[in-house]
Parts: sequence; C-alpha cells; structure tokens
Amino acid sequence: MATINDSYLKLKAGYLFPEIARRVNAFAQANPDASIIKLGIGDVTEPLPEACRTAMIKAVEDMGDRSSFKGYGPEQGYSWLREKIATQDFQARGCEIEPGEIFISDGSKCDTGNILDIFGSNNTIAVTDPVYPVYVDTNVMAGNTGPVNDAGEFEGLVYLPISAANNFTAAIPSQKVDLIYLCFPNNPTGATASKDYLKTWVDYANSHGSIILFDAAYEAFITDPDLPHSIYEIEGAKNCAIEFRSFSKNAGFTGTRCALTVVPKTLTGKAADGSDVELWKLWNRRQSTKFNGVSYIVQRGAEAVYSEAGQAQVKALVSFYLENATIIREQLTKAGLTVYGGINAPYIWLKTPNELSSWDFFDKLLQTTNIVGTPGSGFGAAGEGYFRISAFNSRDNVNEAMKRILEKFKV
Ligand SMILES: *Cc1c(COP(=O)(O)O)cnc(C)c1O
Repeated sequence: MATINDSYLKLKAGYLFPEIARRVNAFAQANPDASIIKLGIGDVTEPLPEACRTAMIKAVEDMGDRSSFKGYGPEQGYSWLREKIATQDFQARGCEIEPGEIFISDGSKCDTGNILDIFGSNNTIAVTDPVYPVYVDTNVMAGNTGPVNDAGEFEGLVYLPISAANNFTAAIPSQKVDLIYLCFPNNPTGATASKDYLKTWVDYANSHGSIILFDAAYEAFITDPDLPHSIYEIEGAKNCAIEFRSFSKNAGFTGTRCALTVVPKTLTGKAADGSDVELWKLWNRRQSTKFNGVSYIVQRGAEAVYSEAGQAQVKALVSFYLENATIIREQLTKAGLTVYGGINAPYIWLKTPNELSSWDFFDKLLQTTNIVGTPGSGFGAAGEGYFRISAFNSRDNVNEAMKRILEKFKV
C-alpha cells in the first residue's frame, strides 16, 4: 500500500475560506432574498488593464504564425520581461538587482511555498501572528513543524505576535531564527514597514546568517514616498533576502497568473559539510527541473505593465482600490469601529466591537448587514478579536456595504 505524507494530516481541518463559504452558503439558503456583499477573500474585481489585454491579443497572434510561434520558453522567464522588471521595479529605486536574479513564475503563492524546496529541514522558522496562511501551511506540508495546538499554533514554528500595541510590526526575536517571513504592505493587517524597521531585520538576518523571505505582493499600494517598495532598498538586504512580487494585485492578474521572485546571487546558505552554497544556483536548478515557465502570452501581458500606458492604467487601478479603502476606513470609523491599515494597503483590519470573537463578529455582520468579511483568528491565534475587510470590490458594493454598516452599528 502506498503511504502518504502524514504532515498533511496535521493541517487544521477547518481551513479559513472553506469555513467562510460554508457559513455564507448556509445563510444564503436560509435567507434567499438577502443581497450578500463579499468583502472577504482578497481577490481583485476590476478588469485587466487595456495595455495588458492588447499585448496578450498580439501575443496570441504571434503564436498563430510559424515565424513568431513560441514553444517552451526559458524556465526563468523571457529576458525582455526580466530586464524591464530589473530596471523599472528595482534599479529605478536604487536596488542593484540584475535581470538574471529575477525568476518569472505563475504566482507568489506557489513561490513562497516552493522556496522551501531549497532549504534544509532543520531551520528555525519565524512567522508573524496573524499571518498569510500559506507560509504556515507549506511548512507543515514540508514536515517542518510538529502538531497544532488548540490555539492553532504549530509546534516548532516561532510566532511573532503583531497587534495594535506594536503597530503590527513584529519585535526582533530574542532567539536565533534561520528563516523569517515578512509581508509588507501586510496581508491581513494592512500595516506597512519603514526603512528603519526593515533595517533592524536586515541587520538581524546578516548577523545570524538568516534568510528573510520578503513578500511584496502589495508594494504597488504604497503611496507614502518614505516607505520602501522593495527590501533591497535597505542596505545589506542583498546578502539576506529573497523577495516575492506578483502581478496579481497591481495589474489584476489573479486569474491570468504571473509573478516573480528575486534571488540575489550574493545569497548563500550552509550545506551539511559546512560549506556556503549560492541559493540562486539551487533555485535555478529547482525551477529548471520542476517548472516549465509562464506562458509566452501571459509574459507579454505582464511586460505591458511596464509600458507608459500600462503604468498609467495600473496606477489608476490601484488608486481605485485605495479610494475604496479610504471610504471603508472613514465609514467604519464613523460607525464607531477602531480600524487599522487601508492607507498604503487594500486591507482594513478592524478591532471587533464589544470584545466579540472574530467568528462571532463574522456571524453578526453577516446576519445584520449581509456583509462577508474575514475573521482575524483565521490568520493566527493573535488575530482573535480582529476582522479583515478587503477593498477589492466595485465602488457600488463598497458604498452599499458601508451604508448598511452605518445603519446597524452607529452608536
Ligand atoms: C495575493 C497575495 C499574493 C499573490 O499571490 P499570487 O499567487 O501571485 O496570485 C502573495 N502574497 C500575499 C500575502 C497575497 O495576499
């Protein structure tokens, strides 16, 4: 009999989004006339930028002509895309990232999980609490943790609590950790990181030989000119950080699929024999073996993000969601709720009123206003008592949702 990877059995049964779907479906069946507005799952709602669509249509035509047809592309991505990313996303901000250090992929979700392939099994791994669940679950699957406790914490992981008390930025751990996941602007809290704050992490990582796994999926939402978009804006980061970026949230590619991971050639990890090995080589080998590249058509669509028209359209798209976030912040505040985030991020993180648990507030909001959000406890034990509202929605839905909340909650 074939055996299984028993680590999968450690994963928590009631995964967040299926449980939300279950409760919403039950409510919808009991209340068929309710008009439910979903401000829960972090998926975009607005159509693809025209520059991207035009480029992809042209790329489809390329595929229909023998002279411009493309078969397998480079596993690392086409150089014309990697070059534009290197110059416009990194070098323009003073980060010395070369095209060869950029790996194009079909998503940051998969990359943040797949990256564990190149690391050993004895690393001490730190995550914030609350956290994007993918970082935790992929470590569980990889066998890097023990079982889960009642609070939802896995044995063997180092949890760094974040809350209003520390501005949703984790304190540097007192112990030594080898891998650290950081996400800024943050999902789920909408918090941002200053250069000074990131510098403390970079210094910590460089002095302990740790690697920072930096998720910058929401960098396009930064409007404050003092906030860093990339961890490589911090001196020393090229010696300790891998950065993940995605076209999902800036250009609406959640259903189109394109992302990138930066692995500087200056990064190393320890082999069992004590020697230092370039992480770039391992990731390059991993991708060349297990991945066959992103579709030519989609990479042409991503390339169009860097055109003048593409830049303007992406900016407009991001501004639209940020305006939603502003409306949500203002109206929730008016309703007497305490809110965080939502300024340089598409997520608003609110404190549940009257000490309600995250799931009790979820049920109350659904029943009284027919609005769906995401319970903070689904992102980790320290998310209990908080609730995430997403700005990814149409303006009409946002306005209607806020009108309902004001009616029901205003004191
Ligand atoms: C949406 C999101 C991503 C992007 O994932 P893709 O697989 O590229 O769509 C990455 N990290 C976080 C924290 C996200 O919320």
